[in-house]
Amino acid sequence: MTLIIPFHNTYAHLPDRLFARTAPTPVKAPRLLRLNLALADELGLDRAKLASPDGVQILAGNRLPVGAEPIAQAYAGHQFGHFNPQLGDGRAVLLGEFVGRDGRSVDLQLKGSGQTPWSRGGDGRAAVGPVLREYLISEAMHALGIPTTRALAAVATGETVIRDARLPGAVLTRIASSHLRVGTFQYFAARGDIDALRTLVDYAITRHYPHAGDARGLLAAVVVRQADLIANWMMVGFIHGVMNTDNCSIAGETIDYGPCAFMDAYDPNTVFSSIDRGGRYRFGNQPSIAQWNLTRLAEALLPLLAEDETQAVEIAQAVLAGFGERFTDTWIAGFARKLGIGQPQAGDQDLVQDLLTLMADHRADFTLTFRSMADAAIGQDALLQGHLGNTAALGDWLGRWHARCRLEPMPDAMRHSAMMAANPAVIPRNHLVEEALTAAVERGDLGPFDALLAVLSRPYDEPTQPQYAQPSRDGQDDYRTFCGT
Ligand code: AMP
Ligand code: MG
Repeated sequence: MTLIIPFHNTYAHLPDRLFARTAPTPVKAPRLLRLNLALADELGLDRAKLASPDGVQILAGNRLPVGAEPIAQAYAGHQFGHFNPQLGDGRAVLLGEFVGRDGRSVDLQLKGSGQTPWSRGGDGRAAVGPVLREYLISEAMHALGIPTTRALAAVATGETVIRDARLPGAVLTRIASSHLRVGTFQYFAARGDIDALRTLVDYAITRHYPHAGDARGLLAAVVVRQADLIANWMMVGFIHGVMNTDNCSIAGETIDYGPCAFMDAYDPNTVFSSIDRGGRYRFGNQPSIAQWNLTRLAEALLPLLAEDETQAVEIAQAVLAGFGERFTDTWIAGFARKLGIGQPQAGDQDLVQDLLTLMADHRADFTLTFRSMADAAIGQDALLQGHLGNTAALGDWLGRWHARCRLEPMPDAMRHSAMMAANPAVIPRNHLVEEALTAAVERGDLGPFDALLAVLSRPYDEPTQPQYAQPSRDGQDDYRTFCGT
């Protein structure tokens, strides 16, 4: 029963100053908490072998699979606006890359696998709660159709990690298109290591953007992916919480689920993270932060954009200027689709914005309000009025929206089902996530986790148990999330 992972590693063969060779540290008593069977199938990995004692030893970092070349990657990053020239994988090890059944190359990384040369003071470990949290929310994002790293497995270590309290430890097996970050480029730019930068640019182009051609093309491609990604977040009320440049993926995936959370009541100033005191990463600030992060990427790439610095800056500025337009286009197209409009046109942005203003005024539930639009589109306004009030302002807005919809005539049933497919019924509600994690951590009961995950895997279906779609009854004004994965 030997698990075969068809590794063909590329990163570990780059110049060795890009990483540190370091193996996972074995754990005492590994026990498989959850294995993502659907993802295992997609990747062409054998379910039974992954779940076998030998497979669990591998997922815990106790045994290296054949062909693995474990490394911790070097990266830097701006954390809350302040540059740290050396971060790196302090609690994660990249075992290697392989090509899944769909022909896509992915990284297989163990997170929480022990100390590395980049750990500094940290223990290199992760706790069960945050590991299951990343598992749940990243899989929910995937089901919503939003680019993300994924969770292949969670393994309990049988060891304790010390945070505020003593907590049960776990290792997450993470699958990503790659773990290249804006901070990876910053690390070498900060050291004036142009050769390494050039290597990274060529690597990122080959791996992610084969048509990009050069550093300028790479920057432009990342700008597009990030603009689309953040627009996608904005359409479901997702708040990442720590949009540091080291958590900003070159492949354009949502990565590093720490204090992230979905908003219930719509308020663009929503912040959940306990460490984000200034609200830098609040919901409504995410697009400008993404652009700020991309500007840091452009700065790192300057030496490769042109020999003359002034010219390089001009090139960077021209490419970065594309972010706003791309973000707005994707944002409008996405919200138009949520409102049953197929072909966005002038005026639609105001229509969407005015609805969001009404929602903010009423602290309306973001997900349920949009979900109720599908009924409102075919003349059934009761639910929508429940969220936004039966006011003249809503009546006025509805009049404009219906007039807009009439410009794109289609049978009621068709518009209704298109809108049900654009507006999820369920998101990972904070109180449900907490309940599921508490049951798992405190009682070893993964029942609520499994039930929630099953519902989140089909977010556009009305859940058979309606409480999965409902916000917490006590509201969430004081909901706080914490970083330590
Ligand atoms: P993150 O908050 O996951 O984005 O991590 C920020 C930096 O802190 C990265 O360099 C991590 O590798 C490092 N780090 C976070 N937690 C730990 C830990 N428990 N042990 C060692 N390093 C850590
Ligand atoms: Mg990180």
